Amino acid sequence: MNALESYNKILHLMKEHHTWFDKSIPLIASENIPSTAVREAIISDFGNRYAEGWPGERVYAGCKYIDQVEIICNDLAKVVFGAEFADCRATSGVVANLAIYAAFSKPGDYMLASSIPSGGHISHGKKEHSGTAGLVHGLSIEHYPFSKEEMTIDVDATKKKIEEMCKDNKAPSIGMFGGSLFLFPHPVKELADFMHDHNMYINYDGAHVAGLIAGGQFQDPLKEGADSMTMSSHKTLWGPQGGIIVSLQKYAESIKKAVFPGITSSHHLHHVAGKAIALAESLEFGKDYAIQVIKNAKAIAGDLANLGFDVLGERKGYTASHQLAVDVSKFGDGGTIERDLEKANIILNRQLLPGDIKAGRHYMHPSGIRIGVPEITRLGMKEGEMEEIANFIKRVVIDKQDPILIANDVTEFRKQFQKIHYAFDNAVDAYEYIDVIHHRKAS
Ligand SMILES: *Cc1c(COP(=O)(O)O)cnc(C)c1O
Repeated sequence: MNALESYNKILHLMKEHHTWFDKSIPLIASENIPSTAVREAIISDFGNRYAEGWPGERVYAGCKYIDQVEIICNDLAKVVFGAEFADCRATSGVVANLAIYAAFSKPGDYMLASSIPSGGHISHGKKEHSGTAGLVHGLSIEHYPFSKEEMTIDVDATKKKIEEMCKDNKAPSIGMFGGSLFLFPHPVKELADFMHDHNMYINYDGAHVAGLIAGGQFQDPLKEGADSMTMSSHKTLWGPQGGIIVSLQKYAESIKKAVFPGITSSHHLHHVAGKAIALAESLEFGKDYAIQVIKNAKAIAGDLANLGFDVLGERKGYTASHQLAVDVSKFGDGGTIERDLEKANIILNRQLLPGDIKAGRHYMHPSGIRIGVPEITRLGMKEGEMEEIANFIKRVVIDKQDPILIANDVTEFRKQFQKIHYAFDNAVDAYEYIDVIHHRKAS
């Protein structure tokens, strides 16, 4: 392919992607669809500028409007998360976590975090798994004892583990809460005093649940005793891809230095503008949204269970968040089922479940799938639609119907859900391709 062919091909493929998502059911728990205003921020000139440093103390000129937007962004983050301090410069959730490791631990220190099958994220992971904490910052990782029945961290066993680590000269520096398979709140308030008494710094990784916390519908980690919260700005929070850190005021200087010059130079100012818009939307619409997200997650979990699926966390009502986990091992493996569903335009991901590694399962063929409802909720779907989607999933996974036939039904179903809800403006359809090249200035 020559240069022009490549160029045209890239533009064509992006359009094709939009067309595909326009007729699909997006159920990836870590994804969402941003508003028209956030999309406008992303294509603005902010994305071509540098603003190293803090508003008012920049290393570069040209920041007079950027400074104002960044100040609004930090102020909104403080209000939305009830925090004394906010830094919206981290360019992703992983980068935010890395800033916390750099600010509050030394290489060789120990951190307590969740294992991947128990919901942990690779950025909390061990060096031998190429996890960020181990590989990049040299932390040694120990895992929380986890209860599969309760689908959360076991409080008493964790206290015992911390005491044993202290006795063995492995006193942990950081307690990391939060995760990626995250159905129920973590025991922050139950463990915060105990951890602080053992000189641990507590970070809550709210990458997945930030939008639910913003809407007041999940635990409030800072109130429960966490020292800081890191998050992605694009999962249940509906911003552009990026990271945010909020904390107590006493940690502000350490966090600021870790973010810059520690781990960022440019901090993606178009995304800062997008984060600010998303936070403003959250302040206005976040509560209604979070309530509907959790209703939808519980609804589709119940619908799937009624149709014969093994949905985890049954004893506790399946989920208290935006996502649910289904053990599909009766019907195949998670990897194959993920691919079959994709052919039917139902997009979700396979999932390692607690016990999978011990049972010799691999992340390519785990026993589970994970389903998230943040994006379909933003498209305006409610409990009735959850039942229809559960049925589509059953037809693929249990009835083994031809995915191509189901894809046609999915396309038809999606036609009624084209707009973004919970937003100040929705001039552009959710997956409408914005063709900037052929855009003509309105005269
Ligand atoms: C998604 C996720 C991250 C990573 O966030 P990015 O913004 O993709 O870097 C960090 N922690 C948890 C728990 C996550 O689920």
